[in-house]
Amino acid sequence: MAKGSQFDVIVIGAGFGGSACAGLLAKRGLKVALIEKNAKAGGKAMAFSKNGFTSTPWVVITAPIIENSFEKVLNELGMGDRVELVTPDPSGGAIFRNGKGKYVPMPDMPADNAVMDPNIIFDWLEIPEAEREAALLALTEITLMSPEDIDKQDNISFAEFLAKYNLPKAAYGYLVGSIHDACFVAPVDAVAASEGIQVLQSIFLRSGGLFAKGGIGRVAETFAQAVVENGGKYVTRAKVEKILVSDGKVTGVATNKGTFNAPIVVSNAGIQPTVLKLVGEEHFDRSFVTYVKDLVPSQGLPGVRYFLNKKVIEQPFGTIFSDDSYWTLERFNKAACGEMPEDIAVLYEVPSNYDENAAPDGKQIVLVSVWGPADGMSTAKDMKPWWDKCDEIMFKVFPDMPKHIERREPYSSKNVSVLTRDKVLPNQGGECIGLGQLVGQGGGQKPSVKAPIQGLFFVGCDAGGYGVGTQQATDSGINVANVVQRYHLMHTAMT
Ligand SMILES: Cc1cc2nc3c(=O)[nH]c(=O)nc-3n(C[C@H](O)[C@H](O)[C@H](O)COP(=O)(O)OP(=O)(O)OC[C@H]3O[C@@H](n4cnc5c(N)ncnc54)[C@H](O)[C@@H]3O)c2cc1C
Repeated sequence: MAKGSQFDVIVIGAGFGGSACAGLLAKRGLKVALIEKNAKAGGKAMAFSKNGFTSTPWVVITAPIIENSFEKVLNELGMGDRVELVTPDPSGGAIFRNGKGKYVPMPDMPADNAVMDPNIIFDWLEIPEAEREAALLALTEITLMSPEDIDKQDNISFAEFLAKYNLPKAAYGYLVGSIHDACFVAPVDAVAASEGIQVLQSIFLRSGGLFAKGGIGRVAETFAQAVVENGGKYVTRAKVEKILVSDGKVTGVATNKGTFNAPIVVSNAGIQPTVLKLVGEEHFDRSFVTYVKDLVPSQGLPGVRYFLNKKVIEQPFGTIFSDDSYWTLERFNKAACGEMPEDIAVLYEVPSNYDENAAPDGKQIVLVSVWGPADGMSTAKDMKPWWDKCDEIMFKVFPDMPKHIERREPYSSKNVSVLTRDKVLPNQGGECIGLGQLVGQGGGQKPSVKAPIQGLFFVGCDAGGYGVGTQQATDSGINVANVVQRYHLMHTAMT
């Protein structure tokens, strides 16, 4: 350990990225302090229990199922038996609003089908025979593209990539409105094609719809517990106010529970809050500060929690979409300025349909999310049009819902910001994912995990990982743990 330091590494924040990184480093023998401002780990996907209901506070559906990054970390930690991961049957969960305005659930796949039969999907989406070839070509090319070829798609958007296929409108609506938009929460004409292809390929090949009993946040709680079980310190309800820097090197952090020292600090607090607030602009070159200010977060995902006194919905999770419910930059701008489209995609999750302990007997909690502004200071007035859309679409699809609502709890991007990330720039703080996985800042062009200050690193969805939300954050946790472990060994052995 560095002379005069209490710890080898301090990790700020026990989101999926921070807790995975801290748990792995502790398991590999480094002396780690994990410092979290909330009472428990999980960040944007924390698990909650209230009045007999247990879940994440909003829709959190993870993907892929096969070879997911949660299991990679849990296995290395030797804690695979501490969390029960579940993959509920998604039958009927995806619901398509067809040309006649009718909401039609996706038909079941025959039980003996190992992979989805595209014709079942095309029939459901009412795609005429003559137009299926274009859709099949797109699905095949996305599924089979090599990692090297995916990497070459950094500089165009996913919309530009898809444009060459001339997809039938309903196929575009399904791929983008139902899958892409739920994974990235950033418009298809801004998301880097490399990211879009990589995520859709992983879902086609390795499936999606992974949850944990007790809420997916249980996974991050387990990662954080690994710090304690491997001799480190896990401090909760401790907010880092400052990252301490002396002569261009980090020396530790100052919190409301005192000062902690280490020559390495890994921040899961978001690159923008870390640079602009926790360290302070004055410690960086102007060009780096400008670069950080220019980075664009994903959109927010506000919505409503419905507590029902009866089991109304059979499906465990799904999306409700039409051929016109996908988002583009222009559509989102118009909606944010008050021109809300008729159809927007809705994500819903019913935790008690895959976890018998998620709701009291006979009751149901329904979590519903839609895209919305990422502003961490959003007001109820700003959010009302988005909450109203949740009601409108859910009640059309599940007409029995309204009469069984015992309590309705809207939630906003402000709630996300308060729980996780400080607002330091306009329209930021309440982002759903982290930085948007966009052209110019996605794929191979993501920010470096190493900040231009000695000993400072970023972990979580802003840097170092690939994939969807919680998986991307965990993947970053794995990759940043490797980088930090090497940095630590080099600096102890060679300086
Ligand atoms: C409404 C909503 C729905 C979502 N749905 C999905 C989904 O369906 N599937 C999916 O995979 N992902 C989903 N996500 C996204 C996913 O939850 C996030 O991308 C992921 O959890 C981010 O992890 P992270 O490690 O990058 O950071 P965060 O979750 O932001 O964690 C950061 C941690 O750092 C702590 N912290 C911050 N500042 C400080 C400080 N100064 N001092 C101490 N601690 C600090 C925070 O309290 C937090 O615990 C959703 C997110 C939201 C908001």
